[in-house]
Order: sequence, then structure tokens, then C-alpha cells
Amino acid sequence: MLIETLDVLRCPYCGGRLALVESIFHRRSADEIHDGILGCYCCIFPVVDGIPVLHLLPGASLAREQVEAGRPDLARRTMFGLDDDEHAARFDAVASSGTATYRDTVEALGPNFEGGYFLYRFSDPTYIVAQAVARAVGAAVLGGTRRAIDICGGSGHVTRSLLDLSSAPPVLADLYFAKVWLARRFTAPGCEPVCCDGNAPMPFARGAFGFAMCTDAFMYIWTKRQFVGEMERLIASGHGDDHAGALLIGHTHNERAWSPSHGQPLPPEGYAALFETLTPRVFGEAGLFEDVVRGGPLDLSRRDDPAALDSDPALTIIASRNPRVLAPHPLPQPAVAAGELRINPLYAVEADGERLRLRLGFPSEDYEQEYGACRQYLPEELTLDRAAIASLHTGLVAGDLRDLVRRKVIVDLPKRYY
Ligand SMILES: [Zn+2]
Repeated sequence: MLIETLDVLRCPYCGGRLALVESIFHRRSADEIHDGILGCYCCIFPVVDGIPVLHLLPGASLAREQVEAGRPDLARRTMFGLDDDEHAARFDAVASSGTATYRDTVEALGPNFEGGYFLYRFSDPTYIVAQAVARAVGAAVLGGTRRAIDICGGSGHVTRSLLDLSSAPPVLADLYFAKVWLARRFTAPGCEPVCCDGNAPMPFARGAFGFAMCTDAFMYIWTKRQFVGEMERLIASGHGDDHAGALLIGHTHNERAWSPSHGQPLPPEGYAALFETLTPRVFGEAGLFEDVVRGGPLDLSRRDDPAALDSDPALTIIASRNPRVLAPHPLPQPAVAAGELRINPLYAVEADGERLRLRLGFPSEDYEQEYGACRQYLPEELTLDRAAIASLHTGLVAGDLRDLVRRKVIVDLPKRYY
């Protein structure tokens, strides 16, 4: 972790500033802490492999003891949940390899770690809406001078889209150490990960961020009122409305409409009632999805009627006093890939002379049920010139590639993803 990140960290329990305890085992450089113990007024927390662990759940206490004993290697195994020595040694070998991919590393963690759908994440309908909304709102409020935080951001798939908008590296906060570790290594390289509990007060200073967001996770938070109050606190500022920050809760389920992995959702007006200092705007995801599939603009000035909200399985909530936020936003396409351009892994590819035949398929019936709306932009079949594929390695999104990237036939994946 960057030492300057201590400026925005606070103890979740006493609110005090955190500082490296110099008298206990630690490894640091001039500007980073690799391993060590952070102390506040009330307790101490470990930094494990450069990630502050700011909660007191059982694994964290054991990892703290291991760091204090000068065994950061064991603390990392604890935070990854690797209690079998042989499995841990296998994982350590993959984690220290310079050539292992995201997929290799996830597989080394074992079958319980993550569903198999991460390969398809960058083209799934939930993701393309979350990414478009996060970028639109982030661009409106960050202005290259303020910082973003992705709360419960998991392995950093959406955090990645904030990297070029946030002034200081975007903070990725999540309970699961392995996920934020993977994000920093692969998915959102350069983000600043923090391990903390979304059901506890958030370990950050008031007004530390211009943009606080949480997508595809809020329905699993039990302490929803506290969570929203904390998001409001994180973006609080004494500046005028033109400089006001924004809060985004994307893809949260609707109590009135069934969806897979339902969680503990609220009805639309229940979500709105969580807000005390800002007036939120609640959107049905269907309308936003149509805007994105059309190629923009993403119209955040819309007001969905109550019937549309009640019937939509997924809702997006935005709150901001900044007049630039609830407005139509163009969805510009980057001219250069952030990572590497690859054929979407949902396609089976068959060579046919100078051409390639692509046929859309799904990894399972469950996947098709949950994400089948991708058919609105992914064609069932298409043919590509080998020459077009040969140009993917340049990373330039030009000519015919523009439409293929927009439709997610070609995806911009993190380097060394699979
Ligand atoms: Zn404290």
C-alpha cells in the first residue's frame, strides 16, 4: 500500500488515523508498506502483502499475529484461506510466477473460490451497464482532480474502468482478500486495495472521495442504512454544487421482481428512503441497458415511472448535487485498448481459409438464463477476416474493429487474463 493512502484511511471503529507501528515487524520502502501493523486509538490491524486488512474477523486476527511474529508469508496464506500446507505451497508457486494468468491464479485457489463465469464478465449485460454508468458519472465528477472508490468491488472488474478517471489510484474495498489481491495484480493494476467489511463503518475519512460506487453487491449488505450513510460521508464536501461528488449503487436487485442470487433486496422506494443527506434518483436497468446497446447516449436525465421500476429485476441508484451527473452522457469508445484485444470467449472459432467462423455458445444453461440478454449485441454467428484478427495485437481500435469492440465480439481484456 502507498504510505500516502494513510491520509484517507481511518479506523472503522474509533475513527482515528492509522499509522505504521515502527516497533513491530514490518517491511517498507520510502513510499510503500509491504507488511506490518497499523495502529489507531483502539486497536491494531495487519498489512498483508501490501493490503491493509481493516476488520476483525477471525482470519484477520490470526494474520495479525503472524505478521507480528515476523511471518508475513504465513499471514498471506491465512488471508487467502489456504490452511492445507501442500495446497498453500502450490498456490505460492503460482502467485510468485511472472507468467501465471488470472485464470491460473484463480484455479490455484481451488474450486470454491469463484464461479467459472469470470471469463465472460467483460461482455455480460450487467457489466456493460455498470461500466458505462460508472464511467459516465466518474467523468462528470472526478475531473482529474478527485479520487474514486469502488466498494464491494470484488476482483476489480469495474474498478478497472476508473483507473484513468481517478486522480490518485482508485481505492478498491472488499471483504475478500483474494479478490482485491487479484484485482491489483491483474484486473485493475495500480488500484489501491483495502480489505474491509461492508457491514461495518467504512475505514475512510470524511470527504476523501469525489465518487463512491458499489455495483452488483448492495443486495447482499445487511446494514444498508449505515452503508448509504457511509457513502454519503465519504463524498461529503464543503464545495459548491458544481464540485459536488456522486454516489452510485449499480445493479441492486428489486424486492418486487425475482432474479437469480436474489439476496435481501428492497423495493424501489425502500432504497430511496435509505438516503438522508442527498436525494437519490432510482433507474430501472432495462432503460440504461437499451441506451448502452444502442451505443449511447446514456440518458441519466430520465425519470422512470413507478410501474417500470416495480417490474425491473435490477435497479441503479445515483445521488449527487452536481448538475452534470443526471444528464445525457455520450459513450465514447477508446481508440486504444486498455489491456489486450481478444475474441470474446463465448465464441467457438473455426478456421475457414482466410476467414474465421464464430458461433456464439454459452457455458451453461444457468449462464444463458442470467445473461442471455447479451444476444442483443452479440450476433449468433459471424465471419471475420484473419487479417482483422492479426491486427488485434496492436491494441488499436480502428476501422471495422470499432463496431466489433462496441458489440463485445472483440473484448478489451486485462493483460494475462487467461
Ligand atoms: Zn480504532
